[in-house]
Amino acid sequence: LASRDFHPEPTIVDVDGVQIGGGNVVIMAGPCSVESREQLMESACAVREAGAQILRGGAFKPRTSPYAFNGLGEEGLKLLAEAREKTGLKIVTELMDLENLELVAHYTDIIQIGARNMQNFPLLRELGKIRKPVMLKRGLSATIEEWLMAAEYVLSGGNKDVILCERGIRTFETATRNTLDLNAVPVVRRLSHLPVIVDPSHGTGVAAYVPSMSKAGIAVGSDGLMIEMHPNPAKALSDGAQSLTIPQFHSLMKEIKALTQAL
Ligand code: PEP
Ligand code: MN
Repeated sequence: LASRDFHPEPTIVDVDGVQIGGGNVVIMAGPCSVESREQLMESACAVREAGAQILRGGAFKPRTSPYAFNGLGEEGLKLLAEAREKTGLKIVTELMDLENLELVAHYTDIIQIGARNMQNFPLLRELGKIRKPVMLKRGLSATIEEWLMAAEYVLSGGNKDVILCERGIRTFETATRNTLDLNAVPVVRRLSHLPVIVDPSHGTGVAAYVPSMSKAGIAVGSDGLMIEMHPNPAKALSDGAQSLTIPQFHSLMKEIKALTQAL
């Protein structure tokens, strides 16, 4: 069902009026984690002012260490909904387990499935049964074939609204957190009709490389970007090193607009 042979036209996922796929470049941005009302509202206002369409922010966080900040849970979801109310932005947030599916689906516009859960097949099957867009991140060591088969689990349940997100894969290279596999964009576009976006923040792990890789992501044909930004990256409770400041995000958005107009 994910294949272009089955469905030659690009799928356009309609997120309550924001269309993802078919050549539009949609920008999702916000902090890695929802930390507080002040932090989220400041981020949301900056995201809207810069002209992006979707606010990101994790309320349930998959952390490498169990002792790290795990997210605010439902409190974080409520803050995201409040930010949507205030700014008109749509929201995307991660769902980590079956237990919280109804809760997360109740608050969010797009359900993010993180890299670590890309092959959580029971979770994917449940997502197939609901009617809510799903953004499926590529697994840390997943091949493109495995990623498309993971999407197939959601599609085969009847949920057609799947967005793929390339977020870097694990390689031998240590200069960056992951290796952003931009090859995946044209490969996915040839094999599949599903929208594919690029996450240069997790893809590099370094804020200084995010602007170049964002522009590269657009140049290579992605349907959008997911970018981490934070009012004070040095104080971020997660992923500060890869988060842009608000001014950095604003200047990147200007470059992105110029680039998308040129294309
Ligand atoms: C995130 O988007 O903050 C995140 C945890 O992403 P990934 O699943 O790609 O690591
Ligand atoms: Mn993050």
